[in-house]
Amino acid sequence: MDTTQIQQAAEILHRAQRVAVLTGAGISAESGVPTFRGKDGLWKQFRAEDLATPEAFARDPKLVWEWYNWRRGIVGRAEPNPGHTVLAKWEKVFPEFGLITQNVDGLHARAGSLNLLELHGNIWKTRCTREETVAENFESPLKIIPPTCPNCGALLRPHIVWFGESLDPGVLQPAFSLSAQCDVMLVIGTSAFVQPAASLPLQAADAGAKLIEINPGPTPLTPFVDVFLPGKAGEILPEIDRGLIQIGRP
Ligand code: NAD
Repeated sequence: MDTTQIQQAAEILHRAQRVAVLTGAGISAESGVPTFRGKDGLWKQFRAEDLATPEAFARDPKLVWEWYNWRRGIVGRAEPNPGHTVLAKWEKVFPEFGLITQNVDGLHARAGSLNLLELHGNIWKTRCTREETVAENFESPLKIIPPTCPNCGALLRPHIVWFGESLDPGVLQPAFSLSAQCDVMLVIGTSAFVQPAASLPLQAADAGAKLIEINPGPTPLTPFVDVFLPGKAGEILPEIDRGLIQIGRP
């Protein structure tokens, strides 16, 4: 990694008052949580696109819950990595700092991030398919599959935005506001394919924000960023943090 690029990123951040971050599955890869598109993301030869859909759940809720049970097992054993930790620390360093994640694993919150928008839901929450009530549920493995609502007996589903579903406007609107108002947006560990998340950095850039991207390889967003840092989030974020400390941010 070119240290001048790290320095460049640190200097951009040093000047910033309002920092927004968009993360994807890649930031949790070093915690041992597979991304969907890597080979480790496969379960019994099923692709995520075949299981994380309302159609798959309507067809076979047990199969979909078994997949989430497998994922809960992986995420439950995982610990936040230095990438998550640096982002939690920066919340206290910058005057305004907001974190938007596409991840459902809850690792940002476990690292201590509070100002957090979980665009795609959370694997540790269920939603009643009849009453729409959302509840936390940390069972792993689940005792009964598929689980049912303790109140009305209807099926519970994972509180996750599946392929083909709309995002909760109560989460999406603040994410758009954050993107439109930030001075800098860091885009970390996302393949930048899934919409509308992938449009947030472009909206930020249109409004004048600088973009910094961290990813081992280029993405469709890379041609539009000011600084591209090729590599792992758990290594690069601590390096930027050290750069910031050298310049004078705590
Ligand atoms: P993705 O799987 O499409 O892409 C992951 C990206 O992370 C890739 O571009 C890859 O190059 C990059 N990456 C891999 N290792 C990295 C590392 N150590 N540091 C930085 N980057 C790294 O993920 P996506 O763009 O988030 O989209 C997939 C969808 O699947 C999202 O909706 C997400 O919610 C969901 N998902 C979530 C989790 C999770 O919660 N941890 C895991 C898998 C998928």
